[in-house]
Amino acid sequence: MAKVAFIGLGNMGGPMATNLVKAGHEVTVFDLSEAACEQLRAAGAAVAESAGAAAAGVDYVLSMLPAGKHVAAIYLGDEGLLAQLDASITVLDCSTIDAATARRVGEAAAELGIGFMDSPVSGGVAAAAAGTLAFMCGGSAETFARARLILADMGKNIFHAGPAGAGQVAKGCNNMLLAIHMIGTCEALEMGARNGLDPKVLSEIMLASSGRNWSLEVYNPYPGVMENAPASNGYKPGFMVDLMVKDLGLALEIAEQSSFNNPMGQLAQELYRQHQQDGNGERDFSSILEKLRS
Ligand code: NAD
Repeated sequence: MAKVAFIGLGNMGGPMATNLVKAGHEVTVFDLSEAACEQLRAAGAAVAESAGAAAAGVDYVLSMLPAGKHVAAIYLGDEGLLAQLDASITVLDCSTIDAATARRVGEAAAELGIGFMDSPVSGGVAAAAAGTLAFMCGGSAETFARARLILADMGKNIFHAGPAGAGQVAKGCNNMLLAIHMIGTCEALEMGARNGLDPKVLSEIMLASSGRNWSLEVYNPYPGVMENAPASNGYKPGFMVDLMVKDLGLALEIAEQSSFNNPMGQLAQELYRQHQQDGNGERDFSSILEKLRS
């Protein structure tokens, strides 16, 4: 069993750290929120006064923070965590952030001889709690071999996408595609409904045909078609529109930095931004159906 520091105990980090405790690791946590720390203490973790104190003497440092600026602030600079770490420590940042910051932290870690991987996840709060997340990792093969040992206690699919930053690029590609096929699925269902088709029957037809996709299969956006989907529960998230807008922003940054024109991704971002501005930020992302209906 390993000694692990876990920084950032929000909706995702809290259940992830809890699963590491359950797996028998010695976990020390830190979060700016005292309430979040107390919840982990109750689950069996030790609570530290700072990120640096949490990381003293551990084998792994894991973080699950809101955005790139938080990750840079924690790890970089003379006062940053990397400067305080022993070279034997493996650092895994599971946050969804811009690929440029992930590469910058990866390079700073490499200069100090520290193994770093950007390890963003697919799967929301329910998957974090169930320990069924997918991890997309960017870093060296050697660091990946060490990362797997600990990530396996929080997820079921662990991929090595390439060097530092590659995990964030993979996540950007995936979520851009998710937005596009969700909007496409909504368009097809609404067009069918307006032409007298039962959305349930149309869903069955497309599921057995070439239009089959994840949104249709496990997350049907049409109310009443799939009992457990957010659409049948007033679009209670699930995965919020706010988070989809964040992830599309990161995907478009990746496209821009590689001078790649992605018209479908840009249109998806525009539609989700408008939907957010119409007051739907905290609803599930499948509620984009309502925008297409209006
Ligand atoms: P959250 O806002 O619930 O949690 C973030 C936590 O980080 C908070 O508890 C906050 O206090 C803490 N924090 C911020 N700055 C800190 C600092 N300097 N030191 C210590 N703690 C600090 O966010 P979340 O929903 O858990 O998401 C975390 C990351 O996971 C994000 O990058 C998000 O995009 C990604 N993600 C979220 C989901 C989801 O469904 N919520 C799914 C996949 C990926």
